[in-house]
Amino acid sequence: MLESKKNISKTNKSLRTKQINEIPSTKKNNVNLQKQIKLITTKKVKPNTNTSQKVYIKKSSLDNKQITKTNNQTTKRYIKKRKIKVKNIIIFILLLTLIILIPIYFLILKPDSNEKKPNNNNQNNDTPPIDESEELDEFDYLKQSLSFYKEEYKNRYITYKEKNPNLDLETVIVHVNIGLDQDFYTNILESPRQQTDLIIVNKYNALDSNYVPQNLETINSKYSSGTKQLESSARIAFEQLAKDAQLEGYTIRAISTYRSYSYQKTLYTRYANADGKELADTYSARPGHSEHQTGLAVDVDNRILSYTDFGNTKEFTWMKENAYKYGFILRYTKDNEFITGYKDEPWHYRYVGVEVATYIQNNPMSYEEYYVRFLQ
Ligand SMILES: [Zn+2]
Repeated sequence: MLESKKNISKTNKSLRTKQINEIPSTKKNNVNLQKQIKLITTKKVKPNTNTSQKVYIKKSSLDNKQITKTNNQTTKRYIKKRKIKVKNIIIFILLLTLIILIPIYFLILKPDSNEKKPNNNNQNNDTPPIDESEELDEFDYLKQSLSFYKEEYKNRYITYKEKNPNLDLETVIVHVNIGLDQDFYTNILESPRQQTDLIIVNKYNALDSNYVPQNLETINSKYSSGTKQLESSARIAFEQLAKDAQLEGYTIRAISTYRSYSYQKTLYTRYANADGKELADTYSARPGHSEHQTGLAVDVDNRILSYTDFGNTKEFTWMKENAYKYGFILRYTKDNEFITGYKDEPWHYRYVGVEVATYIQNNPMSYEEYYVRFLQ
């Protein structure tokens, strides 16, 4: 009996321990449920309807309460976390827009407000307002990049640019260096590079009444009308030109070459008396301002037509294509009338040497422009 009792209690004990082992501890179960809640809220996974668990939940109502409590806490914690996340995203977006907007403000809006300042200062001025400091900065930049920039002309550059807003600054500098910001025959300088093939004589650069070229030579009469003289280098080049032209069937004849100061004076006075100074100035040089006084200029015809019709001859076409090979340039063209101050003269050629003539042939420009760019 005792034995059996003992046995019974033994089996009871083992059964109880078995039960205990089968039923998970409250703690253990709690963690499992929490995991499930997490799964439901995040992945929307169906809760595990394990029957043993169900049974157990029914068994302990106290535990049930605890679970719902923890359940609520986790959801709350999750919502809190999400809120923080959204908050962070909003802060990040705000910072990003600030980072983008600040440079835009400085790049676009700030210069605008700077440009408006001179406007207020120039209210009574009719000319369009120019930010002088900005202009000066640009000229300062050109000062470094353009060899022919002249610091002493800075104010003239600014004034000329104001009057010709469509011109780029390089052209402004070239024009002012030529003297175009002032009327013809004002601010006259003595011609530089005297007694050389690169001398410049125009309405801003004059020769003294005593100036005579040092090496005047008479042209071969085959290529001139009467006795005509040119500077040695120009004489040799012209004879070669006329000779080669003749071989190709063209007649180029020198009709006017070196002219003294006094002869030019007579000519100009005659024209001015006939047509008035203003008109005479468009086709005749005042004494001291004629290229013919240098001994490097030659007027030509083709022996048949008047020199004034030379522009309509096949010889003119030949000269346009070949004169540079002998060092001559067409000096007064329609394109550079505003620079030279003369109507175009298809008959007037100037000896400058093959190198310069070739450059001008390839880069059409007046001798004035070439001079201020490369020789001044
Ligand atoms: Zn001439």
